Amino acid sequence: MSYNPDNVFAKILRGELPCFKIYEDEHSLAFMDIMPQAAGHALVIPKFAAETLAELPLQFAAPLLTTVQKVMAVQKQVLAVQGVVLMQLNGAEAGQTVPHLHFHLIPAHLSKLKAH
Ligand code: 5GP
Repeated sequence: MSYNPDNVFAKILRGELPCFKIYEDEHSLAFMDIMPQAAGHALVIPKFAAETLAELPLQFAAPLLTTVQKVMAVQKQVLAVQGVVLMQLNGAEAGQTVPHLHFHLIPAHLSKLKAH
């Protein structure tokens, strides 16, 4: 699969598009989703040019998951969420709309949990 560097997350990484940044380090970036599925919906992306999880070299997987853990901890402390739904779509057939690997971190708020 060939990576398309014109996707919006690649543009955010290059500073060509703005984002509400939560965390950044050498390997990854976390920012707020522009159309949140719940309050506090965040995205975590690698700085490596991978479209899907299968294309991420293993040495970048641990730093990426470390950032996911950090952002989940922030969501739990700052937003006082009870749980976080982790979602990661691979390929357009799976519903992936932005072809740069990303994890959705969607807070599960108590009011929503009670509604089910
Ligand atoms: P996917 O469907 O590919 O798993 O999710 C892509 C996500 O990226 C969606 O939740 C969508 O709201 C978000 N998104 C798309 N374009 C932008 C953008 O320009 N900025 C931000 N912050 N999020 C975006």
